[in-house]
Amino acid sequence: MDLYEYQARELFARHGVPVLDGGVASTPDEARKVADQLGGRVVVKAQVKTGGRGKAGGVKLADDAADAQARATDILGMDIKGHTVHKVMLAVTADIAEEYYFSFLLDRANRTFLAMSSVQGGVEIEQVAEESPDQVAKIAIDANVGVDRAKADEIVAATGFPAEVADQVAELVIKLWAAFVAEDATLVEVNPLARTTDGRVLALDAKVTLDENAEFRHPEQAELADSSAVDPLEQRAKEKHLNYVKLDGEVGIIGNGAGLVMSTLDVVAYAGEDLPGSPKPANFLDIGGGASAEVMANGLEIILSDPAVRSVFVNVFGGITACDAVANGIVQALQVLADRGEDVSKPLVVRLDGNNAEEGRRILTEAKHPLVQQVDTMDGAARRAAELAAQGA
Ligand code: GDP
Ligand code: MN
Repeated sequence: MDLYEYQARELFARHGVPVLDGGVASTPDEARKVADQLGGRVVVKAQVKTGGRGKAGGVKLADDAADAQARATDILGMDIKGHTVHKVMLAVTADIAEEYYFSFLLDRANRTFLAMSSVQGGVEIEQVAEESPDQVAKIAIDANVGVDRAKADEIVAATGFPAEVADQVAELVIKLWAAFVAEDATLVEVNPLARTTDGRVLALDAKVTLDENAEFRHPEQAELADSSAVDPLEQRAKEKHLNYVKLDGEVGIIGNGAGLVMSTLDVVAYAGEDLPGSPKPANFLDIGGGASAEVMANGLEIILSDPAVRSVFVNVFGGITACDAVANGIVQALQVLADRGEDVSKPLVVRLDGNNAEEGRRILTEAKHPLVQQVDTMDGAARRAAELAAQGA
């Protein structure tokens, strides 16, 4: 989960990483009040989960509260790389002497953590990294040792931070690592890490990604989730622990195993290409290894409640979970949904293959559910599901 800058800035502050006072506003009026409380001279910053706000005109300095209100009026509602600005952060301004870059991240390729830092920070950091990679120091962090003063000094030396800020940077880096660990982050990034004209070192921007797999350790982080941006079906699926992603099409997809579901999406998109309305996959849903009636019912319920869905393709390759168990799951799931009073009126195309496929097919045939059709090949079943969606158009 990516945080907004204002959330990341508060997280930094809690862990003692030096930031400037700030507040957040959703309207120009609110922005004026916040600016007033902060003393008038502020920076007004678009809150969107994407970089490059500075270059896009989403970061503006204001001389006083009235000016902050005007800048907020400009920035609120702006579109930055497809993200609409609904909030601005206002913060006390700093007079910047130098801009550095610093981050800790999970280095998946090398199975370690990494510190990346540069004295050439600021809005051109991508260009610096590309054109002069030697200007960006990369230092592996051993998770068992972490970042102590010796490690922090090593990072400072390798980056070439000027002597007059070395101490402050080292202390900041130690605190930032503590925050990274305590919050189960996979990224903390500060760009710019600024030296001010009065000699302070401050985090003037904050980017944090939290590891959702560690959510159970952080009930307090739940409130950081941006419910306004989450699709309601995805939200319900998440509550039921389903691996569901909403897509734009009309053919609901259920499969077991992420790889199978991914290829099912491709096959359905291809099958629908030359049909009226070009039906496409409506979602990604991996029910994983277990295909109990309950999991199947929950999955079907989510998919069937998507008004865009016109047909459903259940694509199962029996492995550890055999096809007869899946077939029973489907039959029971349809019953469960009917008992719950759900509207089950969309056709289901089922393809069973692999372990105990014969038995699974027999179970479905004998159940004679009016909405269930079986096709034994993946291509054929995808075609059928796409045709049904096209007919329902
Ligand atoms: P980003 O472009 O999305 O990374 O947004 P940043 O928060 O990094 O802001 C972009 C640039 O705005 C920074 O590199 C700074 O040069 C400038 N900036 C941000 N905050 C301040 C501030 O308080 N004072 C001054 N003078 N400039 C700032
Ligand atoms: Mn930045």
